[in-house]
This record gives sequence, structure tokens and C-alpha cells, in this order.
Amino acid sequence: MTSDDEIALLADADRRARAWTAGIGRGERRVFPSTESVARLDSFAEPFPTAGRPAAETIAMLDEIAGAGVVASNDPRYFGYVVGSTLPVAAAAERIASAWDQCASSFDNSPAAHVLETRAGRWVLDALDLPTGSAVGFTTSATAGAVTALTAARRRLLERQDWDVDRRGLAGAPRIRVVISAQAHITVVRALRVLGFGLDTIERVPVDEYGRVDATQMPELDDTTLVVLQAGEVNTGEFDPFDDVIPAARRAGSWVHVDGAFGLWARASRTHRHLTSGIDGADSWTTDGHKWLNTPYDSAMVIVRDAPALSDAMNSDASYLTGTADSQKNLTLEFSRRARGIPVWAALRTLGSEGVEDLVDTCIANAQYAAVRLRGSDLTVVNRCVLNQVLVRADTPDQTVAVRERVVHGGRTWFGPSVWQDQPAFRISVSSWRTRRSHMDDLVTELLTPLPRAPQT
Ligand SMILES: *Cc1c(COP(=O)(O)O)cnc(C)c1O
Repeated sequence: MTSDDEIALLADADRRARAWTAGIGRGERRVFPSTESVARLDSFAEPFPTAGRPAAETIAMLDEIAGAGVVASNDPRYFGYVVGSTLPVAAAAERIASAWDQCASSFDNSPAAHVLETRAGRWVLDALDLPTGSAVGFTTSATAGAVTALTAARRRLLERQDWDVDRRGLAGAPRIRVVISAQAHITVVRALRVLGFGLDTIERVPVDEYGRVDATQMPELDDTTLVVLQAGEVNTGEFDPFDDVIPAARRAGSWVHVDGAFGLWARASRTHRHLTSGIDGADSWTTDGHKWLNTPYDSAMVIVRDAPALSDAMNSDASYLTGTADSQKNLTLEFSRRARGIPVWAALRTLGSEGVEDLVDTCIANAQYAAVRLRGSDLTVVNRCVLNQVLVRADTPDQTVAVRERVVHGGRTWFGPSVWQDQPAFRISVSSWRTRRSHMDDLVTELLTPLPRAPQT
């Protein structure tokens, strides 16, 4: 391929990408693809070609066939899974960073990526008001961040018991107790499982009616204990009582980790930060960029107060590639990776602290607005709606499922099913910068359209 062909291919891809985004702006896309578009994805069941196919044809096929089968999670009417959409500046920065193809492992691999990610990490601490000097690693996900933070935590807790886990391994090591919420996110449980904490050995603290850890039922804590709390329960959006748990846990010498995949961002809002009161006393935190901060996927942060605890645990200095302790390859699982902190930097610089606050406040206000409107209807809002989650039920479990299916099959909006306290519900997450009050009105109208009557027999 000549240089001209390369540029023409990229221009074609960019034109297609822009057309897709413009379609979102005009509100003309289905939010979840039609059955016919999904069926067309069968076209991809081709044998692996012997002779390669033309690049332009591959891009056309991608855009025209796969493009019709994607979920418009960038749409203001998409309310699924707290995943939000992408801010224009984050998408634009991503475009440029992708052309640069940086390996953001260390200064030597990319001075620009190192400087930008270091700055983005500082601003994340500012935005979330977490202790200055904490290490910030840019991970693929909150899940990967949890694996990373809990690895550092276990290593430190063992070190305090004179056990060098790097040399001696886990066999025969002193026991580390793990205390988590009964409503801990499944990915936290998986992170623990991956690290070899047997599920039967994990102590689960009962929660109150809102899904928050019941502080009165916390077990005795000590300096062999890893405690995991949560900011933003996925169904209710509620926060564990950090002020009641963290100071005592730290006094006992436990390590406290907080899963704040989306809820940590409440801290960026002066109106809502009280929900996170005391959270800054923890030892480590994970949060996503790709949810509420509206950066592209593969964007999350692991934050550890004791910076060397993270950089020692994750150190990957090699004879041919050493780096400072703040090199990203010494803070995350990856050795080579794209500069995923660049869109975070671009988003934070463009929003400023006021813009982040406005994004958070607007999403919460819109969720609460929908909740107020639904409360006067035949549907039941199950949660208190303290954050950006609205958990809804109809009169019966069957009707709950039917209402959701009717609405999402219409293609004009999408939100996910859930189960809360053993009963079906559905969950509306308001996490996109694009979503306005009018979209909430449209959603409520769709929800309140009566179900078609069952045929009389
Ligand atoms: C989404 C989510 C996670 C996992 O985050 P990923 O980035 O998808 O790995 C963990 N905890 C909570 C509360 C979440 O909402």
C-alpha cells in the first residue's frame, strides 16, 4: 500500500465514522439493532481467506454490515449498564493518539504519553479529591484495576507479617482475611477468585434495604484483613457507610479498597460528594473513565495511596527497559499498551472541574426527574435514586419483564434487566453527556405506553 492509499483508506474510515456520529446527533439510529441487522452479521462467517482481500472492501464491510449491528451506546437514549457515551474531545483525542500508535509503558517509549498520563493521573486525584501523591495506573477496566490494587494490598498485608510473597509465593503464607459487601460487584468477586482467595473463605457483610454494608454487622477487623467497600451499588446507586467503617478498619491495620467504578465520580460534585464522605481514608480505589467520565472503552484508573505499594507490586523493569516508579508499566498489568490516559487528559482539560461536576449533576438530576415522573404512575421506582440509577418494577414480575421487552424492542431506547432482592426489575442508568431532559420525557412516555392487551380467548 502506498502512502497515498493509506491516507485515502484512513480518510474513508474517518468519513464513515463521522457519518455514524452524525446519525447519532440526528437521533436517527436504532439504539439496539433490529433482528434483521443482527441476522446480517452472519455475513462475517467467512472462511479465513488465503489471499488477502482489499483493505477498502474490508472497511466498507465493517461499516455497512457490522455498523448496522452495533448498539448505539453513544446515543442519548441509551440507558444501559452505566456505560455512558464518549465525549467529543475524548473521541477526537483518541483519533490522534491512534495515529501516533504510542506504547505508553514508560518515558522512553513515549515521552508525550508519559507526561500526559502523569498529568491526567494528577487531575483524576484533583477531580475525585483523593490524597495527592497516590499512584494512578491507567488500566483497561475497573476489573483489571481491582486485580492490580488487591495484588498490591495482599503483598503489603503479607509483608507486615514478615512474608515476602514475591520470593516465597502463596503456599504456606499467613492467611489474609477478605471482608466484602454481600452486594459487592461480581467483578470484585472475580478479581478475588483470580488472586486465589477461595469464595468460601470470603466474609460477606449483610447489607441494609438500600444495598449498603450494614456497619453494625462488620466482623472484627485486624491487620491481616482486606476490606472491600463500594461507592455506587449497581442497582440502587447507593454508597457504603465509609465514615462508619474506614477509620476503624485502618486503626485495626486492615487494607481498605473501594470499588467506585462509577459512583466515585459523585465526589466531583459539591452537591453529591457527601455520599462519599470518608472515602478518602481508604488505601486504594478503582474507577472507570469509560462509564461516567464518558471516555472511550478500555479506560479505567487504579489509585493507591501508598504509591510504592503499587509500583513494587507491579514492577516490571527489564534489563532492556527500566523505568521510574511512576512509569505506567510499573503501575498496571500491561507491559505494552496504548496511551489510554490521553482521552482522559483531554476530557478533564476540556471539562474542567466545573464541567465534570455539571456532567455528574445533570445525570443525577435527569435520573431523579424520571423517578419523580414514574412515581406518579403504575410503575414502581424501587430505589431512593440518590445517584444516576433508577430501578423500576411493574406490578408483577411478568409485567416487569414485559414492559422492558416492549420498550427495548421498539429500538428508540435501551436499558438493562436486573434482579433486586430476588425479584426482576429494570435499571435505567443516566450516564451520558448527551442525555437531556427531553430524552427523559421520551423515555417516560415509552415506559407508560400501556402494554398491548393479551388477545381474548
Ligand atoms: C462496571 C462496574 C465494575 C467493573 O468495571 P469494568 O470497567 O467493566 O471492569 C465494577 N464495579 C461496579 C460497581 C461497576 O459498575
